Amino acid sequence: MASLELKNVHKSYGAVNIIKGVDLTIHDGEFMVFVGPSGCGKSTLLRMIAGLEEISSGELLIDNRKVNDLTPAERKIAMVFQSYALYPHLSVRKNLAFGLENLHFPKDEIARRIDEAARMLGLEPYLDRRPRALSGGQQQRVAIGRAIVREPDLFLFDEPLSNLDAKLRVQTRGELSRLHQKLRTTMIYVTHDQVEAMTMAQRIVVLNAGRIEQVGTPLELFNRPKNKFVAGFIGSPRMNMFPAQIVATCADGVEVQCPSGNRLVLPFIGTVGQNVTLGIRPSHCELVEEGEGIALCVDRCEMMGHETFIYGRMGGIDDEMIVHLAQHREFAAGESVFVRFPPTYCHLFDGKTDDTLPRCTEH
Ligand code: ADP
Ligand code: MG
Repeated sequence: MASLELKNVHKSYGAVNIIKGVDLTIHDGEFMVFVGPSGCGKSTLLRMIAGLEEISSGELLIDNRKVNDLTPAERKIAMVFQSYALYPHLSVRKNLAFGLENLHFPKDEIARRIDEAARMLGLEPYLDRRPRALSGGQQQRVAIGRAIVREPDLFLFDEPLSNLDAKLRVQTRGELSRLHQKLRTTMIYVTHDQVEAMTMAQRIVVLNAGRIEQVGTPLELFNRPKNKFVAGFIGSPRMNMFPAQIVATCADGVEVQCPSGNRLVLPFIGTVGQNVTLGIRPSHCELVEEGEGIALCVDRCEMMGHETFIYGRMGGIDDEMIVHLAQHREFAAGESVFVRFPPTYCHLFDGKTDDTLPRCTEH
């Protein structure tokens, strides 16, 4: 078990800054997910925590002790990568034993740990097989098992499910969550997939271009994104966003004019004339009668049986808007539908900074 603290951590390769000042606390026993687009520095940050990459400046503390200069082994960390990196000529059992044998663990202790890990991961039937005779999912479980037998204080996972097919990814993601509930060891899990982050994390760190955009629980990020980046990154399908302008202020907040000419009163604090981005998630849009909402011209409609996605265009905007309905409906291309944006589900971002405007009720 371990807590972790990063204080103003930087990483540069020559003149290129990759990690630009990360401050973060991870609690003992927490399942923390780092998420962000490809190339934002997730692996670099994880490798610095593991001790595989030097920290250019700043401090890394494990259990309140500075570990910048400790080797990976001294940090009591185990890491699982996207590529399984198993020894092809060794059996599963030997693959699991390898690291412990190198550290001269007693034979019966090695056997005990392998039995326990194999039971936890459902690997008992495969212990005498070579990796080649296993599916991708089973190979990845061996890689996870190799981390478990080390009984580390901290697990690091770098996109461990990326090589698995969609169905197996969903299954293994559930298994990893259960594993965390069982072991209660601190885990840091890196992914570019926001669905993985939302479903597995106790807290999520959203990274963008070497900086933290926001840290919070999945629901905090979904309901109260700090800025346009987090709002657009978390949630699928993506939040609809379009430019708008504040044309008046009133007791209930601000009056916002959409490109279609429609005006909405939203519970935010802003100034008259301020350019903003209005955001609304597809599942928060409501269909209403003609004249009660904003007109949307339907481009196409996806009918999934139990839910419906409408793709359409609003007056004055080129970008496609998506409306998600939790039931079956049918619409034809070219048809107009009318959409209401419930004010409490709307997001407003400043046009210059992209930060979320303060909400009336939160003051
Ligand atoms: P992610 O895991 O989020 O996809 P990485 O941490 O792998 O991103 O990489 C972040 C950035 O750092 C990328 O632009 C990458 O090209 C750069 N980078 C990674 N490793 C090195 C290196 N050894 N030398 C120079 N640049 C690197
Ligand atoms: Mg990576």
